[in-house]
Amino acid sequence: MELIPLSEHAPWRAFDATEAEWCDWRWQQRHAIDTIDEVERFVQLTDDERAGITWSKTALPFRVTPYFLSLIDPLDPRCPLRRQVIPSAAEATRHPGEFGDPLGEDSHSPAPGLVHKYEGHVLLLATDRCASYCRHCTRRRLTGRGAGGAPSLDQAIDYIARHREIRDVLISGGDPLLLSDDALGALLDRLRAIEHVQILRIGTRVPAFNPMRVTPSLVERLRRAGPLFVVTHFNHARELAPDAIAACARLVDAGIPLDNQTVLLRSINSEAGVLKALFEKLLRARVRPYYLHQLDLAQGTEHFRTPLRTGVDILKALRGHTSGLAIPQLAVDLPGGFGKVTLGPDFVASTSAQATFFRNWQGALCPLPYPEPAQTDCACSGERRVVDEADLAAERGDEDLA
Ligand code: SF4
Repeated sequence: MELIPLSEHAPWRAFDATEAEWCDWRWQQRHAIDTIDEVERFVQLTDDERAGITWSKTALPFRVTPYFLSLIDPLDPRCPLRRQVIPSAAEATRHPGEFGDPLGEDSHSPAPGLVHKYEGHVLLLATDRCASYCRHCTRRRLTGRGAGGAPSLDQAIDYIARHREIRDVLISGGDPLLLSDDALGALLDRLRAIEHVQILRIGTRVPAFNPMRVTPSLVERLRRAGPLFVVTHFNHARELAPDAIAACARLVDAGIPLDNQTVLLRSINSEAGVLKALFEKLLRARVRPYYLHQLDLAQGTEHFRTPLRTGVDILKALRGHTSGLAIPQLAVDLPGGFGKVTLGPDFVASTSAQATFFRNWQGALCPLPYPEPAQTDCACSGERRVVDEADLAAERGDEDLA
């Protein structure tokens, strides 16, 4: 079958759409591709991919926006963007050590749509839908499985309101930016009305999959809900195409800080050079590389997994070769809901009474003769309270309490 070429300059023509339709995020979602017949008009599928798409009907669905499809290589099944969205038959295989719920979220859920694992922050799952579905998705037991609408979060919001220790709410899913402006705005307003909630975060892959969604009216809603951080999910420099960079710029220009999470994926971004290109491109787009995630142990994702040492070796290789701002933390989310820990290279070679010896980024052995100070008590003098009710009251301008 002859493929329809996806021109870089006018990709809408391949879809018999106008440029205005292509730039409409709802058009992108309505025309998302989810069948073998549709995708084969543009992409030369392998037998393995065909089997993967067929299998995905019983698991994490296959769906990709026309926009993201236009970025993949239609002839190369090893394309790093293509492998993230087109299923492979390997997803059907279960491996020892994998979990249906790798992060123990279901057992830490005090209300529908809410996960409470840490003392001060919670995860709110606002929808099960995503603009496209990532084949490495950790939450694949839920993602794309429901009716698609927003679940009732009344109990979750009531729980947050009753738990004064909750200072930070991460809204994720699914992808919360697939909610309408009104639905998302109403959710943000309800959370903002809870006095002890200080920080809101939104986890989203929309800037990569459907950057047209970042409209001026959405940006204004997010800006009004501040302090609010948007946590993006880019895994490869090629995902930061001009439309994605422009979407990030609209958010940053409105004063919304952007941090990025990258998932370490074997033979997609599992080399230092590939991640260096991504992290530096993110910084140029004013997005801070925040976490590099070791892939969680979700069922059917073994083909994406790297050894634990790979991420550590990559961070070590980046040190000294790029800005420290371009080096994220390597995070491992422990199975069973025990939370995140971070891994990093150990630059200490040896210690003695006289000095600690480090290997620097060039491999040279360097002593740090660091004399012990005369006083070693590090307790701070004066007031030691961190943030308490009086601080919050002062920020709100509530003089009685402050
Ligand atoms: S956008 Fe996030 S929740 Fe959705 S499929 Fe990708 S990883 Fe999973």
